Amino acid sequence: MEKEEKLKLGGHAAIFYRAVKMLFRMDRMFALCTVFNAFFASVIQYVPIYFSAKLIDAIWMGAPKDEIILYIGLTVGLTFLLNLLLTLCRVVENVKTMNLYREQEWMYSRKEMGMEYSNIERRDITLLLERIRMESQTGYNLFYLYTSVRMLVQHITSIVAAVSLTVSFFALGAVSAYGKAVLVAGLLVTVLCGIYATAKEEAINQAFWKQCVFLNVLGEKYSDCVGDYAMGMDIRLYGMDEKIAGDNRKTDMEFYSDYVKKDKKCLLLSLPSVLFSHLLRFGVYMVLIAAALSGAVSVGSIAKYVACIMLLLEAVSGLVSTLQKVFANNYYLRRFFSYIDIPNNMYQGSLTVEKRLDNEYYVEFVDVSFRYPGAGSYALRHVNLRFRVGEKLAVVGMNGSGKTTFIKLLCRLYDPTEGEILLNGVDIRKYDYDEYMSIFSVVFQDFSLFSFTLGQNVAAAKEYDEERAVTALRRAGFGERLDAMPEGTETYLYKDYSAQGVEVSGGEAQKIAIARALYKDAPFIVLDEPTAALDPVSEYEVYSKFNELSGEHTAIYISHRLASCRFCDNIVVFDAGQIVQHGSHEVLLAQEGGKYHELWNAQAQYYVRADSKQDKGIAVGS
Ligand code: ADP
Repeated sequence: MEKEEKLKLGGHAAIFYRAVKMLFRMDRMFALCTVFNAFFASVIQYVPIYFSAKLIDAIWMGAPKDEIILYIGLTVGLTFLLNLLLTLCRVVENVKTMNLYREQEWMYSRKEMGMEYSNIERRDITLLLERIRMESQTGYNLFYLYTSVRMLVQHITSIVAAVSLTVSFFALGAVSAYGKAVLVAGLLVTVLCGIYATAKEEAINQAFWKQCVFLNVLGEKYSDCVGDYAMGMDIRLYGMDEKIAGDNRKTDMEFYSDYVKKDKKCLLLSLPSVLFSHLLRFGVYMVLIAAALSGAVSVGSIAKYVACIMLLLEAVSGLVSTLQKVFANNYYLRRFFSYIDIPNNMYQGSLTVEKRLDNEYYVEFVDVSFRYPGAGSYALRHVNLRFRVGEKLAVVGMNGSGKTTFIKLLCRLYDPTEGEILLNGVDIRKYDYDEYMSIFSVVFQDFSLFSFTLGQNVAAAKEYDEERAVTALRRAGFGERLDAMPEGTETYLYKDYSAQGVEVSGGEAQKIAIARALYKDAPFIVLDEPTAALDPVSEYEVYSKFNELSGEHTAIYISHRLASCRFCDNIVVFDAGQIVQHGSHEVLLAQEGGKYHELWNAQAQYYVRADSKQDKGIAVGS
């Protein structure tokens, strides 16, 4: 486990201040209710103590009836009023807590969705988020601040009240200085025991939660497997239930046994302070009874002093322990802020993408190399390529040769590790990110459809233009299936949000994804093997049909099957992260000893069917 840097006092103050400000901004009313709630909760304990002592003394001294009734009235009336205020504050607090948890979830969601794509897969960031979420569930983090503010107000109010009610005790001449000194020493020892126990408990808790992050990640992955119906088939067919359930149980048991060990340690640590506080209570009784027997203390005051001294002890211990927890929570908050503060470098550019009537855009890769975050080797090496907008480009090569990575860089899902990509001579990092992204329509092999309506899936937005969506779907070849849907574009995909939702086949899903690209009508359209599940003949047909549909748009076709892209005049061949050849099908095929020639022959040799397709030179199979 790596050591965390210790926070200095200034660091603690800065984090605390930032968190309080953040929470205050989230809900002022809740913050005020928390403070008042704590204040009333503290004061309410002292009202009956104070007036009961007065009442007992009044009865004992034979005071007039009016005085006795006044004390009773004040006790009941004030307690009632405070209880009323307390209930009101609690109701507001409860209602608002719900809202605040939602706000917090939103904050995480916004951060996650707006985060740079390259950061999403970084293991250190995934584990950091997991740890923050887990710690939030244990009551720490942003919301612990409300608890700690409440506790601080409650304990400080309690200390003020208890001290003002017990000052007279320390002025009593009937109690010896020795007796008072022993009581003060007892108070101090009990508080010190509490400080030690809390510090230790905090260290144990922090170490425990840190160690559990990975177990929690594992647990969630197992739950994903169990809950995902798409995995259900493989689990059943291959009898994986025993393995998954067994692993899940093992992780659970590990967590449980560590949790029990941690709790046992914490329990043992709290024993000395419990013991000392009871000894102190015993001591206070003895001193007061001795003073009462000598007639120096009234009967009513005995109960008042015992209760107040014990409440003072509780408040002082509570205050110290709350402060310790505030300090400990600052470490949790520091992690939380370090996540919130992860910069989004993608959004640093501000240039608008030039709108040119002559459509004379060009894109250029200048000596681009790229290594995935955390990867040891380069996925792309010294890529140099220039193409004009409006051109059609085919990117071919074996699986793993770097084709998708090339597209991901072009679309700024990642930035190059070395070199630069230019749009009309300007580094694409300098453009406004959202504006730059808006010029691309990409259909990746692992595209996602959502459990929204068909129209929303095509538009990738809540609101959509129905006519445009229908046209895009028909152009993508989804027309017949659309006509069979009674709800048309309002039909829900899958059953997550609607019982009438429909399941679509792999091929239909591809058509919807292609319709999405057509609907966006962006200047660049990229098909990154969304057709990989189709046979090569169908892929060729989809690609060449798409080529007709794409009109004046720049279209980039990616495939590991060379035949699918042979209609393209502009083919680049990737091999081991590098562009090894560039040219038309005929030119590349003529280069014997070249990668294209080698791959073409390898694929043709195994897959060319001796039928009419052969004279098209199309490989079939995969
Ligand atoms: P292709 O599209 O040609 O099949 P890719 O661009 O997907 O190839 O992959 C190129 C190389 O980068 C491969 O070695 C692959 O293992 C690696 N790679 C791809 N995605 C990642 C990733 N997210 N993290 C680390 N390495 C990756």
